[in-house]
Amino acid sequence: MIVVLTKDISPHDAEMVRSYLRDHGFNVRGQVFGDAALLGVDGKGQADIHELSLLPGVERVAATSKPYELASRETHAEDSIVSVGPVKIGGTRITVIAGPCAVESREQIEETAARVRESGAVMLRGGAYKPRTSPYAFQGLGMKGLEYMKAAGEAYNMPIVTEVVSPELAEQMKELTDMFQIGARNMQNFELLKKAGSLGKPVLLKRGPSATIEEWLLSAEYLLAAGTRDVVLCERGIRTFETYTRNTLDISAIPVVKALSHLPIIVDPSHAVGIRAKVSPAALAAIAAGADGLTVEVHPKPDAALSDGPQSLYPEQFERLMRDIEVLSHVVGKELLRTPRSAASVNAQARVGGAAAPAGGTPAPRKIAFSGASGAFAERAAIRAFGEDAERLRTESFGAVFDAVLEGRAAFGVVPLENSLAGSVYENYDLFMQYPDIAIAGEIKFRIVHSLIACEKASIDGIKIVRSHPQGFAQCKDFLEKHPDWKLEPWSNTASAVFSITEETDDEKRMSIAAIASEAAAQSHGLTALKTGIETDPRNYTRFAIISRKEGSVAPVPESMRMKPDKASLIFSVKDEPGSLYKCLKILSEEGINLSKLESRPLLGQPWNYLFYVDVSIPQNAQVFENALERLRAATGVFHFLGRYRASL
Ligand code: PEP
Ligand code: MN
Repeated sequence: MIVVLTKDISPHDAEMVRSYLRDHGFNVRGQVFGDAALLGVDGKGQADIHELSLLPGVERVAATSKPYELASRETHAEDSIVSVGPVKIGGTRITVIAGPCAVESREQIEETAARVRESGAVMLRGGAYKPRTSPYAFQGLGMKGLEYMKAAGEAYNMPIVTEVVSPELAEQMKELTDMFQIGARNMQNFELLKKAGSLGKPVLLKRGPSATIEEWLLSAEYLLAAGTRDVVLCERGIRTFETYTRNTLDISAIPVVKALSHLPIIVDPSHAVGIRAKVSPAALAAIAAGADGLTVEVHPKPDAALSDGPQSLYPEQFERLMRDIEVLSHVVGKELLRTPRSAASVNAQARVGGAAAPAGGTPAPRKIAFSGASGAFAERAAIRAFGEDAERLRTESFGAVFDAVLEGRAAFGVVPLENSLAGSVYENYDLFMQYPDIAIAGEIKFRIVHSLIACEKASIDGIKIVRSHPQGFAQCKDFLEKHPDWKLEPWSNTASAVFSITEETDDEKRMSIAAIASEAAAQSHGLTALKTGIETDPRNYTRFAIISRKEGSVAPVPESMRMKPDKASLIFSVKDEPGSLYKCLKILSEEGINLSKLESRPLLGQPWNYLFYVDVSIPQNAQVFENALERLRAATGVFHFLGRYRASL
């Protein structure tokens, strides 16, 4: 049990609470003062919780089965998202921090910042005070090093994280760092934890080399009890009997911590394995196991590094790792938080007096429209593209998403275009023709896992009716064929199908209805997944278009959409005569433009005439593309350019 005391409790009242607990047979395990004061209470005592909570100075009494209350998922079911300036850690993103083990000089940290930023790191790491095993090893440049690192972070627009080794230094360092790191050796330096947790800065808490997960979470509890809400855990390998690698990366700690705690967890593969060639495989394994990000040591000249050179990646190796993570992130249903390549140079200019570029991370735009109830796949797509903070506008249909964007009630909309198992969502292709002022501003693609969702007490055997969007049925065809007696009721979208179950007033009927949708939709509506992973093939991806108004959209766009466009979409019609489509495709071929998708749709009001919806890659040479567009325009009837955007991997 944890007793949370009010901030202004008097010493007298605090003593009264303690003696009340002792009189009722409890052990009072001490007290941590910070923003909040807590009493940890155990023992075989018995007390009336209500009476206890009414004592002067008691804010609340929380029963918990874990010794860490604030860090526990029991008291905070949602994933916590930690902000470090504009960068976010946790949720559906993968955040990568990179930099040298130690700051060695102004030039070294600047060069590293430039290189890791170029590859897509969003935060810079580096030690100014180095806790070294040997007193004769390089101990860091101290405050000077921190100043160099702050300047490099500002120049390349990356918040910085650096290790703090004593409570006294924490005060001095607080103005210069964006996040404190508590190193593995200091994980149980409780005075340091209390101080670091009270300074209003986010804290990265490394796991001690011999710490159990429970001890680690109790150290996080110290930070949280001292006032901060922004704690990120970092698994960095533990000491085992194996000596081949520097430590043993405890991959299983990731899912274990995810279940026990709401705090984000990232992995440091560099200190975990200690061998350069083994860092990237360990990093990818960590992402596959569900880590929210990484902190990786990178050095422009690892062979000359003053510390941890053998485990530091060359910038080229880091670039390769980032590319691999980008591909892997989609498999685990996450998005790599990336900064556009071009922005790195733009921000470097800010240093010499140019205009400041937009900060790294995802800016908060105005409303994003999607169709469906809470938990819809399109809502997840909106969150993936714009972040959790983006205000969302829920609508009832795809047409209503287009309306909301056209009328300016939403800055952007998210609509599905195609699925790798079930094919195109024709309704949305057709809507582009009906809304000529709507453009495609971006796209996002991710894996779709379907669940059969019903009331908690329902069983598969009792199901008679299944509701979903026709795409949901199509994607789960094999599973549904095993249950031929189920009546399939098409619904406007998957999440609304889930919601409809909760609206059924007849108890017996409610137990007989299921829906096919995401697990997130089940959670949003208080229902349960009877079976998960029912899609016919696990390689089930949906591609969503991010739509905006062609003119007059002033909303800030996410990072991915600020990258140089490499894809374009257009719609055209051709004359009803031999070879007319061939002539259009020939133009693309002659200009060396790759066609990635060709979809034909009936032309409204003109039976047996068709519109062709085309996705193409934009070649490096912009003029080549303009020529091709001109030639196509001349060869076609209807010609409607939908937009240039960055392709989703
Ligand atoms: C570091 O990140 O620079 C470091 C010293 O790591 P750890 O505390 O995990 O050994
Ligand atoms: Mn190091």
